[in-house]
Amino acid sequence: MNISKQKGTKDIYSDDILIWQFIEENIRKIAKKFNVGEIRTPVFEATELYMRGVGDETDIVSKEMYTFLDKGDRSITLRPELTAGVVRSYIENGMNSLPQPLKLWYIGNMYRYEKMQKGRYREFAQFGTEIFGSASYLADAETILVSSTLLKEIGLSDDIVLSINSIGCSECRKKYIGILREYLKPRIDNMCDSCKVRYNKNILRIIDCKEEKCNHELKDAPYITDNLCDDCKEDFSNLQNVLTNLKVEYVIDKKIVRGLDYYNKTVYEYISKDLGIAVGGGGRYDGLVSTLGGPNTPAVGFALGMDRLVLLLKEKNILEKIKNNVDIYFALFGDTAHLIGNNLMQTLRNEKNIYVIDGDISNKSPKAQLKYASSKNAKFVCIIGQDEIDKNICIIKNMETGIQENINLNSENIIKYIDNN
Ligand code: ATP
Ligand code: MG
Repeated sequence: MNISKQKGTKDIYSDDILIWQFIEENIRKIAKKFNVGEIRTPVFEATELYMRGVGDETDIVSKEMYTFLDKGDRSITLRPELTAGVVRSYIENGMNSLPQPLKLWYIGNMYRYEKMQKGRYREFAQFGTEIFGSASYLADAETILVSSTLLKEIGLSDDIVLSINSIGCSECRKKYIGILREYLKPRIDNMCDSCKVRYNKNILRIIDCKEEKCNHELKDAPYITDNLCDDCKEDFSNLQNVLTNLKVEYVIDKKIVRGLDYYNKTVYEYISKDLGIAVGGGGRYDGLVSTLGGPNTPAVGFALGMDRLVLLLKEKNILEKIKNNVDIYFALFGDTAHLIGNNLMQTLRNEKNIYVIDGDISNKSPKAQLKYASSKNAKFVCIIGQDEIDKNICIIKNMETGIQENINLNSENIIKYIDNN
């Protein structure tokens, strides 16, 4: 019996892994430039963490979690997102006593039991950043700058729109929810079943329902953005000034309310023009640290979906740019040639650490070795057999031009030849 991978999971290798590595390298580079430190937290946590930290009424907690009892009868959940885990770690490790603001980034796999679609998996990866200990819009702007810099560096700026909104503080939101409830009261019967549930449990989320009939009823709905208190209004306008000053392009989308319960004030999403879905989102979550038992700590962060970034990059011929092409392949025939070849390869690897060097390790026929070298896009092939050893030479073939030359069999000559061609 063949065992297949689980629904919603994937194996990543060959060309795809190169795209993943390309994004990951840029993440590390950018995180360093912005002085953001990495954090790694466990893949599984107590289920309670997500019930309290993400919210019982969210899709994630109510429908999508991988929850099970372990052998010690503890309720365990595979992380569906990472903010709650990072906050748990922040509290548990007393990170509030470190200099604040504290900037942390993470990358890792998340697990959600979802219906499979393009760009929607049950195991997927997110890159995210959290900033603790700053209540200023400047920290909101910094998270936007980190994420938008990544999108720019990997060449996706033109494919993605940044939409921002403010969902206010608990005070102005409470007032707004009253206004929204009044507006929806005579209309809710015509709306979808999910919205009927949301009306009592998570009314804000009705605003971003995608159903046609709900959209129709929401035509003249009041938006939180138009009902902010003076403080929140000023914050939102300050944030926009900073973004404009930094030349970060954005649009205001009053319909963004985000799916997770813990957001307040700034919320934002990166939407792919092509896929029509979000590749990431973020916002401020000032109440989460205290909700999870920590000291009152303002915080803001984002998460980008790696898998969706990879999908977008795959359509952009990025591979030509990032492919790991072999600089020189050693085609070796016979035991002595393999001994000499191995030595040369190691010397070249040590002396020229920018070269990608590969060579025969399976005693293939001459034709098969050249075919393999060509499949790896080798620029040069260095051919060594008994004849060449007897004459103390090797044959270097330029795979692009097909031109072959004999040169003396030593590493300096080979390096000189490659550097000059
Ligand atoms: P969606 O509305 O697409 O379900 P979400 O609001 O559930 O997204 P978040 O929890 O904000 O998503 O996660 C941030 C990002 O993680 C998303 O914008 C997306 O790129 C990615 N993401 C979320 N769920 C999945 C999934 N099942 N498969 C792949 N990527 C995902
Ligand atoms: Mg979702």
